Amino acid sequence: MSKHISRRSFLHQSAKTTVAVSVAGIIGADAIAGCNAPKVLGSAAFIGFDQTPLPYAYNALEPFIDATTMEIHYSKHAAAYAGNLKDAAKAEGIDMSKPVENIFSSISKFSAKLRNNAGGHYNHELFWRCMKKDGGGTPTSKLAAAINQSFNSFDAFKTQFADAGKNRFGSGWAWLYINKDKQLRIGSTPNQDNPLMDLSDIKGTPLLGLDVWEHAYYLKYQNKRADYINAWWNVLNWDFVQQRYEAI
Ligand code: MN
Repeated sequence: MSKHISRRSFLHQSAKTTVAVSVAGIIGADAIAGCNAPKVLGSAAFIGFDQTPLPYAYNALEPFIDATTMEIHYSKHAAAYAGNLKDAAKAEGIDMSKPVENIFSSISKFSAKLRNNAGGHYNHELFWRCMKKDGGGTPTSKLAAAINQSFNSFDAFKTQFADAGKNRFGSGWAWLYINKDKQLRIGSTPNQDNPLMDLSDIKGTPLLGLDVWEHAYYLKYQNKRADYINAWWNVLNWDFVQQRYEAI
């Protein structure tokens, strides 16, 4: 996709993506399950090697995440990960018709370029979908019950998740994920790593990811990562997170 798309084209593609994401969420799991490897979600959350259009406009998450940050983040940072991923995947013989997450369980066998850009691309594709215009609130149904069971309360979950983001030194991600024992866990990874990677300290299937790289918040929040995380709860797309949870 061109880095400079017209607004009309952008909105048209965004509308199509919204439908695609919704349908994919409803179809449910045709997951490719490994024995001990974290479960990979299939059609419930297909992420391929191409960058897909944002499912909303750059300014949709205002005032919590500003339009300029979103535009640069999506069209520069994330676009670069997708482009570099395809270069590395081609050079290293990866089948790009399959979900990108298929390579994470053996990512240690590939180059640093592939690891960094596969993580960068996948993490951002997931991140965009974890947010929406007029988001926020609380999860419902089975996910709400599981969060209460695992973390005692939604507020306790939020505190623990925010701490994971705040305490990640340098650049990285905070995650809500499900481990191989089907338990909800919170953790963080450095750089563009994620819990699906065989070399990650935390292992599982990510449900919700928060980008705590400075490029995600510096223009509006400067060095105040805690303020960015605090505001971020207002744009959360709990429906999407819940679809991922129920597809496992
Ligand atoms: Mn980012």
